[in-house]
Amino acid sequence: MKSIAEKLKEIQTEIEQFSPHPERVKLIAVSKYSTTEELLPYLEEGVYVLGENRVQVIQEKVADLEKRGKKFPIEWHFIGNLQKNKVKYIIDQVAMIHSINKLSLAEEIDKRAKTIGRKIPVLLEVNVSGEESKEGYSVEDLEQDLPKLLSLTSLSIQGLMTMAPFTENREEQRKVFQSLRALQEKWNQEFFAGALQELSMGMSNDYQVALEEGATMIRLGRKIFD
Ligand SMILES: *Cc1c(COP(=O)(O)O)cnc(C)c1O
Repeated sequence: MKSIAEKLKEIQTEIEQFSPHPERVKLIAVSKYSTTEELLPYLEEGVYVLGENRVQVIQEKVADLEKRGKKFPIEWHFIGNLQKNKVKYIIDQVAMIHSINKLSLAEEIDKRAKTIGRKIPVLLEVNVSGEESKEGYSVEDLEQDLPKLLSLTSLSIQGLMTMAPFTENREEQRKVFQSLRALQEKWNQEFFAGALQELSMGMSNDYQVALEEGATMIRLGRKIFD
């Protein structure tokens, strides 16, 4: 079996091989499949940028690490469907929320951010492929909401996120990532004056293609923790 350091080195080599701007790529280790116990050796290796898709699991892991007297500078990235009524539980924990998929959620995050005096970095999740099973804003709905999203002063909208359909077809994956990048360029011109810097795209089965198409954040679960 490969060691954690070997796995990380392998991924870093691929980032340098596939990305047009490797220095801008951030690896998010999606720890949702791991218990705190299983996570510890990764933390000891310096894997601090973690992605989770459930509020309760972040809370449990934070509490568990505290109980064990372990202090690490963890950067939690929330990557799943976030329910409005749970925003209050993680607002002071998260470094970034990747999954803004409706205006009411954005408004709730904005409101809670104001109560703790923080500006929250967020990404807008786009359902580029139009697949019904996928979370995320449709392009049309998002475009319509953009002016209102931009008026939320305690959100720092830093980019876009998407998930490609579950397929091994590289060109199908590529089309989705290219579409996200095209939306980034369009909306940067029309609405954001270049502020959309991040493209969170690429998971264990498609991150190489996502890197080629300009991902700045890749979210790897199985690739790192299996
Ligand atoms: C689980 C998950 C990932 C990681 O998936 P892997 O296929 O294990 O790499 C990435 N992004 C989101 C939104 C997820 O829910």
